[in-house]
Amino acid sequence: MQQYPMTAHHKQKEEKEPKFKHTPTNVVIKSLHISMVQGETYTQEDLRCLVLKELHKQDPKYAVTRARLRHIAALVMEIKIKIKCKIGKKPVKNDKCPVCNVKMTETKNKTLDGPDAPLGYKCHCCGYWTDKNRRRIPKEYLFIYQ
Ligand SMILES: [Zn+2]
Repeated sequence: MQQYPMTAHHKQKEEKEPKFKHTPTNVVIKSLHISMVQGETYTQEDLRCLVLKELHKQDPKYAVTRARLRHIAALVMEIKIKIKCKIGKKPVKNDKCPVCNVKMTETKNKTLDGPDAPLGYKCHCCGYWTDKNRRRIPKEYLFIYQ
């Protein structure tokens, strides 16, 4: 096998550190509390910008995706999430909440006699709900700090 000499370029590539770093959940929660003002409403993008600014003061490599930030925000008592949905044509795929990733509970239509008819799902963490046969698809989120 032919051996290639190591070039400066190769060396640089090998020594390069990862560009981004996973931010621990507690650090994200702390940044949410610091960034958000009581009574204010934020879009998902606004909130991510604010939180990243705060995180980068501690470590410029900290990163958090929109979805993860939303899942974490749903866990914070002081943060209320308003969800705008559009009605899809497809049934619900699974019982995980699309907003906060928590397992949803089945809602049932009370019938006078016979078994209760399954109706849909409801999330007790963020308040999202959906029909079983026509999934409500979240398309916009508003975060309110209270
Ligand atoms: Zn939820």
